[in-house]
Amino acid sequence: MSIAFPETISNDTEVDYQCVNINAKLPNQKRVSHPFEVDLESIKDAVRTILQAVGEDPDRDGLLDTPRRVAKMYAEMFGGLHLDPGRHLDVTFEENYDEIVLVRDIEFTSMCEHHLLPFRGVAHVAYIPNGRVTGLSKLARVVEEVSRRPQVQERMTQTVADLIEERLGSSAVGVIVKAEHSCMSIRGIRKPGSMTVTSSMRGSFRKDPASRAELMSLINQ
Ligand SMILES: [Zn+2]
Repeated sequence: MSIAFPETISNDTEVDYQCVNINAKLPNQKRVSHPFEVDLESIKDAVRTILQAVGEDPDRDGLLDTPRRVAKMYAEMFGGLHLDPGRHLDVTFEENYDEIVLVRDIEFTSMCEHHLLPFRGVAHVAYIPNGRVTGLSKLARVVEEVSRRPQVQERMTQTVADLIEERLGSSAVGVIVKAEHSCMSIRGIRKPGSMTVTSSMRGSFRKDPASRAELMSLINQ
């Protein structure tokens, strides 16, 4: 077994926001870089409109710079939208290791696409290598980048599992995401502290109860 905690595997977890065209299919998995410019001016106009719509004065002192700040915040929160998070898994190493590799407690913040409010929590990412392993911090980078999109937690969980399955050719992938949703804690039903857990199990983690039980015991250690 191999368990890693993100804080111990890499301290260079800043995200590289180089934009790539995720649809480009080129040899050697190289992808065309094309910068995507977030339309900050449109966001600023929209934020002004919202402030006016709720009866605020967007021209009062405290709010003057708010549209610009919010525009920059959205550009950051959605900065993964035009990136290919799978590129972090392009470099692999031959390794004769066929047991569970688990990186657990990868913290993330994403945005619920229904309310544009954050959901925050941790992801546990596991796979059983198929002759090749990836750098442990790369799994954390994939989670970080996938989280930078408007989405629902269910799809985020599946997206991470899909990327690991496809890019590492792994026979077993397990992704478990546990998060608190602001749209449930600060509005609507107002239940702070309630956690939503989603999982995506592939290969032996799905088919073999013993393999899944081993994974769960490592996560809960
Ligand atoms: Zn929501």
